Amino acid sequence: MRVLVIEDEVRLAATLQDLLELDGYTADTRHDGEAGLDEALTGIYDVILLDVMLPKMDGFTVLHHLREAGNATPVLMLTARSELSDRVEGLDSGADYYLTKPFEPKELLACVRALTRRQPELRNTDTLCCGDLTLEKRSFALSCGERSVRLSRREFDMMELLMLNQKLVITKEKLLVKIWGYESDAEDNNVEVYISFLRKKLEHLHSQVKIKTIRMVGYCLEFPGI
Ligand code: CA
Repeated sequence: MRVLVIEDEVRLAATLQDLLELDGYTADTRHDGEAGLDEALTGIYDVILLDVMLPKMDGFTVLHHLREAGNATPVLMLTARSELSDRVEGLDSGADYYLTKPFEPKELLACVRALTRRQPELRNTDTLCCGDLTLEKRSFALSCGERSVRLSRREFDMMELLMLNQKLVITKEKLLVKIWGYESDAEDNNVEVYISFLRKKLEHLHSQVKIKTIRMVGYCLEFPGI
């Protein structure tokens, strides 16, 4: 499980990172809204802890952009302000949970556990679109017009990551970590094999969407109109 902590108080961010890592999570930190949003958009996180008052871009704006991009990662908003209006604004903008500072470590970890349990439901609720393609999260079906194929679990995870990040290049390392996890001994060529499976399926579907290789970096989706 991977958690992203977006918090500008550097010491608090480091404390949260330690706390999460002691509890068995992998945690990354970012200290402003823009850097946090960029990192969150990679789609590799299972939960995001998001401070409200942040330099460059506030937490509500980060959350708004994240949801607008189709990213459904559960978000736990953190804030020193406890006014009701903030809570409401947070919930309206798609936050899953709200925690006011100061909070007990136990309370935070309980929230993170609750959110990671909820994620499978979230993943199954909708459909992703990109160019002429539709990906059904419930059935793992990838469709283009009348044609449709069923993806394997790994093909689906890979396609989902590419579709959630339509305008970004996904590095091989990110694909490896997201699909196989840190503990696995999967290598770069495992990624290449699955990319070639997906390319065959796109060809079969007669889709205009292509998986483009960016040499030495990774992959991105390419289709007319982008
Ligand atoms: Ca702050």
